[in-house]
Amino acid sequence: MNDVGYFAPADIGDALKLLADYGDKAIVLAGGTDLVPAINYYELKPENLIYIGNLGIDGIKEENGKLVFGAAATTASIAASDLVAQKAPTLAQAASLSGSVATRTVATVGGNLANASPAADLGCALMGMEAEIVLASAKGSRTVPIAEFFTGPGETVRKPDELLQEVHVPVAAGNTAFLKLGRRKALTISVANTAVHLTMDGKKCGEARIALGAMAPTLLRCSKAEEMIKGKTLDMTAIGECAAQAVAESAPIDDQRGTAWYRMRAGEALVGRALAQAAGINE
Ligand SMILES: Cc1cc2nc3c(=O)[nH]c(=O)nc-3n(C[C@H](O)[C@H](O)[C@H](O)COP(=O)(O)OP(=O)(O)OC[C@H]3O[C@@H](n4cnc5c(N)ncnc54)[C@H](O)[C@@H]3O)c2cc1C
Repeated sequence: MNDVGYFAPADIGDALKLLADYGDKAIVLAGGTDLVPAINYYELKPENLIYIGNLGIDGIKEENGKLVFGAAATTASIAASDLVAQKAPTLAQAASLSGSVATRTVATVGGNLANASPAADLGCALMGMEAEIVLASAKGSRTVPIAEFFTGPGETVRKPDELLQEVHVPVAAGNTAFLKLGRRKALTISVANTAVHLTMDGKKCGEARIALGAMAPTLLRCSKAEEMIKGKTLDMTAIGECAAQAVAESAPIDDQRGTAWYRMRAGEALVGRALAQAAGINE
């Protein structure tokens, strides 16, 4: 890697000015766990790197009924946070199942979203929680619902001069589950993952949210499957039909981690288990 400009601003205004000046000639560097391997494998040849670890945007707090994550909040800090465990358990689970101790220590929530992997674990949990993403530039900031953020594998609506600054997560009552399936039990990228959020009145389902990852070009919400169970009494038959509908809304591909055929079957089982878990039904 030759002649790469490296900036480590300590002020958000300076970071946004650098992004405004360099635009697509600069790449944001957070924990580097996605970016550095891409550079090492010559998939990317950055001209300038803007490191955001000194900006002080790594906090986690609750504000006006939402959890607010600074983009540089690390996966380890999310996994260890009592606030997240209490108010956003699927995100806590996703964080604790993501990567290894070493990667979690530096990997950030902003990086997991901006990298836009369809298999992103924090991204999947955040999709199920209807998170909002705050993008800041020297011209101002805008808030994008997570459902509108991803446009394809590795692609988002973020413009080159924008920094993903915060992630807002509405705190919602209900029962949740996050499950991932990898090729092994730990330190594994998801072959499929799912985040489920249900409000239950006894056995009757009120609100339902089902997010699915690694099953389409982007993380997705399975809206038809959600509609199928809203207001319905949940038993294993209803759950099985809902899980089948959820994967019918996906479009998995064959890759080095699994075939589309396998993902359809494993994804269906995963969604079924997560729904049963959230509904408090023993399979
Ligand atoms: C060994 C290993 C295991 C892994 N396991 C998992 C796993 O189990 N689950 C999982 O989901 N992921 C996994 N990953 C992927 C990675 O750790 C996560 O996606 C991580 O959250 C990326 O965050 P980062 O801070 O390292 O991002 P970086 O690598 O620094 O950046 C990733 C991308 O996002 C951009 N970016 C970062 N922050 C911002 C920002 N604030 N604003 C704008 N753009 C930004 C960068 O320019 C780059 O394009 C693994 C990676 C490794 C190396």
